[in-house]
Amino acid sequence: METSNTYYILAFYVFTAIENPEEEVRKHHRFFKTRDIRSRIYISKEGINAQMSAEKTHALEYIDWLKSDERFKDIDVKIHTYHEHAFPKVTVKAKEQLVALDRKADPKDGGDHLSAEEWKTMLEQKDEDTILIDVRNDYEWVIGHFEGALKPELNTFRKFPEYVDKLKAEYDPKKTKVMMYCTGGIRCELYSVLMKNEGFDTVYQLDGGVIKYGQKQGNDHWKGKLFVFDDRLSVPIAEDGKEEIISSCRYCAVASDVYYNCANMDCNELFLSCPSCAEKNKGCCCTDCETAPHTRPFHKGEDRPKPFRKWYHYETVKRKG
Ligand SMILES: [Zn+2]
Ligand SMILES: [Zn+2]
Repeated sequence: METSNTYYILAFYVFTAIENPEEEVRKHHRFFKTRDIRSRIYISKEGINAQMSAEKTHALEYIDWLKSDERFKDIDVKIHTYHEHAFPKVTVKAKEQLVALDRKADPKDGGDHLSAEEWKTMLEQKDEDTILIDVRNDYEWVIGHFEGALKPELNTFRKFPEYVDKLKAEYDPKKTKVMMYCTGGIRCELYSVLMKNEGFDTVYQLDGGVIKYGQKQGNDHWKGKLFVFDDRLSVPIAEDGKEEIISSCRYCAVASDVYYNCANMDCNELFLSCPSCAEKNKGCCCTDCETAPHTRPFHKGEDRPKPFRKWYHYETVKRKG
């Protein structure tokens, strides 16, 4: 296996008025055409949310190109290195919203931004009137989170408003200090507005999310790994070698933070398994799925399987392999 890290994985977002998202999409496609770049980029009238993998020089060219536009010159691009692409193809799309939220929210009305360093200090000084909210899905929380973070118990983030109601019943919104964090920061930009609108007066958000925190402060106060929405699925937040596995195989309970997509394509559920249980159960999340009609064969040997996308992708891989 190629082990040299010749790819950059980039993540950034920006909130700025974009008059013509479609035109921005076309510009991106033109720029990507001659370069080794793959992406998942969403552009709306309110800004850009981007994740991509690119050959190093192409990644740097992209950052220069992006920042040459006055609207994007202050963007903070987070960079990881990797040995291959982490995205299957080029996706650049115009979207109505950057983050799914069923009400209007202006990031200007959101919580105060804390740098990684300030966040760490606040964590260390946190009193009983401070709550730490993980603004991510359950399956993200399970493999890694900040010590003492509340688990959101949500299967979809559209239900966040209901969760805020529950919090309000439990904590006095006038007295409670709220610290919120998410993967890269964008979810907090909008969900912190919602917290404030619901009556929480003091709300802080981790600037640049867990990605930035790991790069600045290492694994301090963080337990486990970070779930990411690309082929890597989970990554250590820092390269200090202090990461640990805090989750376990759903079948045998041995420590594991390896996610599989259920081999029953009509199910496709993401579940944690150890390699031997994955093999024993043919890559399925439960016994019912093993005998389902659209189950793809299980391939052993991938110690960290990539997320399953579509049948044709599997077919291509099989033919090559
Ligand atoms: Zn197991
Ligand atoms: Zn299943």
